Amino acid sequence: MNSWEDNIRKVVPYIPGEQPKQSDIIKLNTNENPYPPAPGVRKAMENMDLNLFRLYPDSNATPLVNALAAYHKVNPDQVFVGVGSDDVLAMCFLTFFNSQKPILFPDITYSFYDVWADLYRIPYERPQLDINFHIRPEDYDRENGGVIFPNPNAPTGIYEALDVVEDIIEHNSDSIVIIDEAYIDFGGESALPLLNKYENVIITRTFSKSRSMAGMRIGYAIGSSKLIGYLNDVKQSYNSYTMNQASLVLGVEGVKDDAYFKETLNKIIDTRDSVKAELRSLGFTVTESRANFLFASHNTVTAKELFAALKEGGIYVRYFDKPRIHNYLRITVGTKEEMDQLLDSIKNYINYKND
Ligand code: PMP
Repeated sequence: MNSWEDNIRKVVPYIPGEQPKQSDIIKLNTNENPYPPAPGVRKAMENMDLNLFRLYPDSNATPLVNALAAYHKVNPDQVFVGVGSDDVLAMCFLTFFNSQKPILFPDITYSFYDVWADLYRIPYERPQLDINFHIRPEDYDRENGGVIFPNPNAPTGIYEALDVVEDIIEHNSDSIVIIDEAYIDFGGESALPLLNKYENVIITRTFSKSRSMAGMRIGYAIGSSKLIGYLNDVKQSYNSYTMNQASLVLGVEGVKDDAYFKETLNKIIDTRDSVKAELRSLGFTVTESRANFLFASHNTVTAKELFAALKEGGIYVRYFDKPRIHNYLRITVGTKEEMDQLLDSIKNYINYKND
C-alpha cells in the first residue's frame, strides 16, 4: 500500500438489494411498493414548472416540511426532511451519536446501522434479540451513547408494542433514542404520541414503502424542536440543498391523498396475511410481520437454495448470509398476482426436491 493510503477513510459499504435490469422479473427483494404513487403525483409531475429547475431549491424544504407537519399535527420546527430515510438516519448518526460510549441496536436489524457507526467511528454494541426475534428492553437499560431500532424491525418484520418502546425511552433519559418507523404504516402503532412526553426521541419515516415513492428518495424525522434544530445545523454544515425541486413538489402531493394511501396499504396487508398463511401450510416458519415483507424459513429446503432457485426463475427475494437468520428469506409483499406466481414457484421447487 502507498503511504497516502494510510490516511484514507476506508469503509465496508452497505450492500443494497439488487436492482436487476430485466423488466420481466418479479422483484420482491427491496421492499418497494407494487402499486403506483397517488394519482396526484402524476398530475403534479405533468404540470411541473421546469423554471423551478433553473433555481436552487429551498434549503429548508419548507413546502414539504409544512405538509408533513400538518399531516402529523406537529409544528414545522419538529420536522426534518432528507434524501430518503437513509440520508435522514445518516444525519442523525452524525448529529446525535457523538459520545465515546457505545450506541446500542439489536444484533439482527437494518444492516445500514453498523455501516454508519463504522463510517463515523461510533462505538456500538448489539444486544441479542430473544429467540422469537423480540427486543429485550432490559438490554437497553445500561450506559450508552444512544439507542436506535426499527419498529417494526427489519428484516424480521417483528413489531414491539408501544409500552416496550416507552420502557426503552424511559430508561434512556440521558441518550437520544431513534425509532426507525420505515414500516410502521403497515400495521403498528406509531411512537409519535410519545414525543409529547419525551424531548430526547427522534422518529424517522420514509416515502419509499407505504407511499410508493422509493425512486424519489424522500424521508423525514420528527422530534422535539430542539433535536430537529441540532439536525438542521449539521445538515446546513454538510449540504444545504439535499432535497431537489422535484421531490419537494411531488413529496407534497404524496401525502395528500389519504384515501388512496389507505387503499394500497390495505391491499398489501391483506396480501401479506394470506401469503403468510399459505407459506405456513407449505412448511414454512413465518414471523408475525407487521411490515410489507414476510420473513420465512422452510423446514426442509434451505433458504440459500430456494433463493437461488427463485432467482433462476426470475423471482428476486432477499437472502442474508448472517448468523441466526441465514435460513430465512425476506420476501417483499407484491401484488396478489406476483405472490401467486411466487407461491407456485415455491411449491414446484419443494415438490421437485421431495421427488
Ligand atoms: N430503515 C429501514 C429499517 C429500512 O429497511 C430502509 C429501507 N432499506 C430504510 C430505513 C431506508 O429507506 P429509504 O432510504 O428508502 O427511506
